[in-house]
Amino acid sequence: MATGKMNQLVVMVNLCSSVVEGIEHLITSQGNDRLKEDAVSGLLTLEENLKGLQADKSVIHETRWLAEVIKNWLFVYDGEFRDRLYRWYFKALKELRNLMFAEIEICPVCAGKGTVHYGASLYIEGDEEGKELLSPVRIFMKCEECGNYYLAKEEPWVVKRKKKTGHSQAKCKRILADIERLASGNTMLFIGSQNSQLYKEAVSAGYEMDVLNGTEPVSPVIRGSYAVVIIEHLTDNRDMNAILDRATESLSDGGILWFDGPDLDKSMDLLQKKGNTLWRQAASEVYLTKEGTKNLLRLFGLTVESSKSVGTTLRRIEIIAKKA
Ligand SMILES: [Zn+2]
Repeated sequence: MATGKMNQLVVMVNLCSSVVEGIEHLITSQGNDRLKEDAVSGLLTLEENLKGLQADKSVIHETRWLAEVIKNWLFVYDGEFRDRLYRWYFKALKELRNLMFAEIEICPVCAGKGTVHYGASLYIEGDEEGKELLSPVRIFMKCEECGNYYLAKEEPWVVKRKKKTGHSQAKCKRILADIERLASGNTMLFIGSQNSQLYKEAVSAGYEMDVLNGTEPVSPVIRGSYAVVIIEHLTDNRDMNAILDRATESLSDGGILWFDGPDLDKSMDLLQKKGNTLWRQAASEVYLTKEGTKNLLRLFGLTVESSKSVGTTLRRIEIIAKKA
């Protein structure tokens, strides 16, 4: 899950390394003003970013100190300076790692605290690029608050992104029949794409439709007025909370919400029994569990009316929830 903050932290890690590399060059080619200016501006950029992220004060202070010392040529090229430089380097990296961890610990659903639930390791024996890898390809976090799982780390070059395949017509008809059994009216808010099969089937089933694309209204959306809300695709990013919030406030009292997602328990089961790797597929969705979904929906004032595990190889959970 790449948030803007996470991207910023990755850029800062790289900047730390290139600053140290630059200073090493500066040490061997003394008096090079261009190298000096590069090092100083790199350090000042880091300082500014660390301040913005409310990093540890001593790291900010040392970064500033290093910049001042280099700017004013207040150092001699000796072992002591090099030690000081590397002490700063490791301290800065450690702080950035802490900040990254704090970032991935925040549950995208409820902003509760997540802990590492499962790290999928993959060993590649020299592929065509000769790369070898033995490290977590994908890390799942479990939220202690709402009990859901979210993706904290993924090596995108390992994971093959499959094009999202839509629901078949038969499946859409079955989903709509499930909804109809519990729905109390024919007004629907569809959160998703108007090109999807599910949208088309809902229109031909006679629903009066309004549409939201993500959190962007395609047609005017009236709060508290829909008998049914369908979320076509619940993403794994930070919008998930906003989408669920929007869905809930759009429902009328007694209205129902439908959404689905990959079934984590089933996927884990297949992994243990058959070795089916769940990190070979792209995880652009939050993996759901029956228990976790119940907890999650309670946060939004919804109760689970029906929870169905469907599909054979790629199990999914379909949830229908009701607004009290
Ligand atoms: Zn949570």
